Amino acid sequence: MTDRIAVIGAGQMGNGIAHVFAQGGFPVAMIDVREAALEKGRATIASNLDRQVKKGTIDAAVKEATLGRITTSTALDACAGAALVIEAATENVELKYRIFGDLDRLAAPGAILATNTSSIAITEIGARTKRPELVIGMHFMNPVPVMQLVEVIRGIATSDATTARTLELSRAVGKTPVEVNDSPGFVANRILMPMINEAIYTVMEGVATPEAVDTVMKLGMNHPMGPLALADFIGLDTCLAILEVMHAGLGDPKYRPCPLLRKYVAAGWLGKKSGRGFHTYAAVKG
Ligand code: NAD
Repeated sequence: MTDRIAVIGAGQMGNGIAHVFAQGGFPVAMIDVREAALEKGRATIASNLDRQVKKGTIDAAVKEATLGRITTSTALDACAGAALVIEAATENVELKYRIFGDLDRLAAPGAILATNTSSIAITEIGARTKRPELVIGMHFMNPVPVMQLVEVIRGIATSDATTARTLELSRAVGKTPVEVNDSPGFVANRILMPMINEAIYTVMEGVATPEAVDTVMKLGMNHPMGPLALADFIGLDTCLAILEVMHAGLGDPKYRPCPLLRKYVAAGWLGKKSGRGFHTYAAVKG
């Protein structure tokens, strides 16, 4: 029988993860504390599938079958039948610890508990459970249906069997997993976030406008997106949370979040999802 998957959080990452597993043939329970987030998540999956149909990469029957494999719930105990639970809730240390304590009680014994955290230590999340050998990082990239990479992060107690199964499940949905060890920011954000933070300092110091910074990096470095557009896309609150974890975890002032980033987050200017960040967007809050 095909493994059941549970995804915790239906935001930009959670709905993308639910999408790729459902399209890969796995029954998926998508869980969020907010009914509105579940509705928005399902609508996003449907519109992303429509885009795939228009491009001719899938047909309408695949779209319907994919949507048909996704159930939604506001109750965490909907994870009970899953062989793999992937947590993609808000990037907040205390929230993740609490969710993993709850998942440990509610998920089937033997189920793998994965987290899509961008920066929080897998070892510490694992220590909140009685099954640290089954806890692993599964760091998908945004937008999940498009991006190839999954960083698979082993905590100190993660078993070889858990790692092997996680690599296998990542490949089963067409992704390319890369195994890395647990360290604040892992590899992707350890390298990306200092660049984004420096771009924000450049704006704060009046060296250049956000448009100019992004154009320099696009045309000069061949980046497909400028760092500020990318930060808006990731979510400025998420960027700040990642930098805080790296700053605290690595103890080096070079990871200190730029005060302008703090100011934007305090103002509710969170990037694309709130309609305004370093650039402006026609997005609606949901
Ligand atoms: P988001 O704000 O779009 O979505 C988070 C969702 O979690 C919200 O819908 C919220 O209602 C839900 N949530 C909050 N508490 C919950 C709980 N107790 N139980 C269930 N759901 C809960 O955030 P996102 O961008 O999807 O990020 C989610 C995770 O993925 C974070 O850990 C983030 O660091 C990581 N991540 C983000 C990106 C990115 O580009 N945004 C990339 C890789 C990884």
